[in-house]
Amino acid sequence: MTEHLSTGPIRFLGRTARESLTRQRGTVFWFYGLSGAGKSTLASAVEKALHEKGHLTTLLDGDLLRTGLNRGLGFSDDDRRENLRRAAEVARLFCHSGVITLCSFITPTKAFRSLARQIVGEDDFHEIFVKADFETCRARDVKGLYAKAEGGTVKQFTGRDSGFEEPDRADFTIDTTTSSESTCVDQLLAWMLPLIAPQ
Ligand code: ADP
Repeated sequence: MTEHLSTGPIRFLGRTARESLTRQRGTVFWFYGLSGAGKSTLASAVEKALHEKGHLTTLLDGDLLRTGLNRGLGFSDDDRRENLRRAAEVARLFCHSGVITLCSFITPTKAFRSLARQIVGEDDFHEIFVKADFETCRARDVKGLYAKAEGGTVKQFTGRDSGFEEPDRADFTIDTTTSSESTCVDQLLAWMLPLIAPQ
């Protein structure tokens, strides 16, 4: 990989230099799944655990980004794509700064996941399918969105009006219907820690 990108007289600081300060490998972990599957719960619990171990992290959460960077985007296919494209570009910037970047987005289609992977780069991108069936998520209804979708006040709702494609094979699958939150976090950390070790 090119360490310094040359644009005339300016030479940007390289990734290796940044990672020498953070003493970890910049990495993107992309949590995806239905609303209420447990993406934000697990991403934030993992972030806290990594932080306590001395790692520099950040968390990009779909709901939060929609209030700022992605304000104004809706849930049409084009808007979802743009929402994820921007998120993946930001994740790449953090990753190249040596930060462990946890992303929490529904990312309903294989094509969207593939887009995010392509933007971040194959070597840095690790996808985590947070698995929970529609009925379980509906029963949890953490944000009241399932009730609103049924009442018709929320449209284009994933898993109901708008499809969700399960992966054929994810880098990691965590089933939140069969394991407790703390077990999920332990399993995730065991898989993640070797991936963020400095090279
Ligand atoms: P999402 O970010 O995918 O929309 P949330 O993390 O906001 O979902 O909500 C998931 C809900 O499921 C939370 O209320 C959480 O307590 C609950 N839950 C039950 N079991 C688990 C588990 N094993 N892992 C994560 N969340 C779980």
